[in-house]
Amino acid sequence: MNIQMVDLQGQYLGIKNEIDAAIQSVIDSSAFIRGPVTAAFEKDLSTYLDGVGSIGVANGTDALQIALMALDIGPGDEVIAPSFTFVATAEAVGLLGATTVFVDIDPKTFNMDAAEVERLITPKTKAIVPVHLFGQCANMTAIMDIAEANGIAVIEDAAQAVGASWDGKKAGSWGEMGTLSFFPTKNLGCYGDGGAVLSKRADLLEHARLISNHGSKKKYHNEVVGVNSRLDAIQAAILGVKLKKLDEYSEARRRAASRYTEFLHDLPGVATPIIDSRGTHVFHQYTMRVLGNDPSKRDAVQSHLKSNGIPSFVYYPVPLHLLPIYKNDTVSYRVGKMDNTLVAANEVLSLPMHTELTEEQLSFVAAAVRSFF
Ligand SMILES: *Cc1c(COP(=O)(O)O)cnc(C)c1O
Repeated sequence: MNIQMVDLQGQYLGIKNEIDAAIQSVIDSSAFIRGPVTAAFEKDLSTYLDGVGSIGVANGTDALQIALMALDIGPGDEVIAPSFTFVATAEAVGLLGATTVFVDIDPKTFNMDAAEVERLITPKTKAIVPVHLFGQCANMTAIMDIAEANGIAVIEDAAQAVGASWDGKKAGSWGEMGTLSFFPTKNLGCYGDGGAVLSKRADLLEHARLISNHGSKKKYHNEVVGVNSRLDAIQAAILGVKLKKLDEYSEARRRAASRYTEFLHDLPGVATPIIDSRGTHVFHQYTMRVLGNDPSKRDAVQSHLKSNGIPSFVYYPVPLHLLPIYKNDTVSYRVGKMDNTLVAANEVLSLPMHTELTEEQLSFVAAAVRSFF
C-alpha cells in the first residue's frame, strides 16, 4: 500500500480544472505581484476568518517578522513564545534583536501553558506568541486575559491552524495580530511559498502592509525601513480555489484523526491526541505519544512503521531553546521551566495526515502501530 505523509498530488487531481484555470487567468492578466487577484484572496480570507483584516505576504516566517515589526519590537524587548514549535516562531524575534522568553507547554495539548506565561512576564515583555500547534488552538481565553491585564500584545502563530477555532472564534482573530503560512503542506497550502498577516486593528494592518512593501504606500516615497514580502498572484489564485474547500478539507482531516483514535486509544504505551472541547481541531498533524519519555522507544516505533512502508515524522525532536542558535551569546533568550517540553520532544510521533486518506490506509497504519506493541 502506498501511503504518504501528505498527498498533494491526490488533492490537486480533485480540483485540477479549477486550479489550472485560476493559474492561467493570472498568466493572461500579466499582473503577477499582488494586484486584483491577491486583493480578492485577501478579502475572501478576511470573510472566512470572521472579518479580521489580512495581508498576503511571501511566507509565514516573514508574516511573523512583519507582525513583530508592526508592533515595533526590537532590542530590549521580550517576547514570550513556546520552545516546542517550528523554529520560525522564535527566529524573527532573534533577528530583530529582541529577547525570546521560552515557555513550557501544557502536556495535554502541546500548546503554551498560560499559567507559566504569567510567571515569565516582566516590565520588558512586549508580546506573547501562542502557537496553535498541530491544528489546535492554545487557550486563548486565558492568554488574552493575561495579555490584557498586563498591557501586552498577542501575536498568534496560526501557521498550522487555519480554520480552527477557540470558544467560537477563529484562530488568528484573537490577538492584536495573527500569522498564517501557506507552505504547500499546511492545511491551506499554495504551490510555492506564501503567508498572511492578520489583524483586527486597521492601524496595525496598514502599518504591516507598509512594512511588507518596502515601507512605502506610494511608490518611491518610502516612509520606514521595510521588507519585500508579498503574496504573488499565482499563489493567491490557487489559494482562492482551495479556500472554498478548506472546511471540507478540515472535516476530512478530523475524520481521519477520529479513525486513528478509535483504532489506537486503548493501546497501552500510546497516548492519542487530546481535543480540548472549548475549541475545534483541524489536525494539521495527528501527533501521538509513545509513552515512557524514551526517544529510542519512539524511534523504534518509527522504524517499525517504516519497515511496513509507512512514513511518520517527529515534530519536533529538539526544543528550540536547545538548538545551536542559542548556544552562543549572539541571540538573546531566557528559559522558563521546560519539563513538559522535554518529555514531548522524546515521545511525539506524527502519523500520515492529509485530506485524501482512505479507510484502508488508516486501518493499515493503525494495525502497524498496534503490531509493534
Ligand atoms: C510553517 C510554520 C511557520 C513558517 O511558515 P513558512 O511559510 O514556512 O515560512 C511558522 N510557524 C509555524 C508553527 C509553522 O508550522
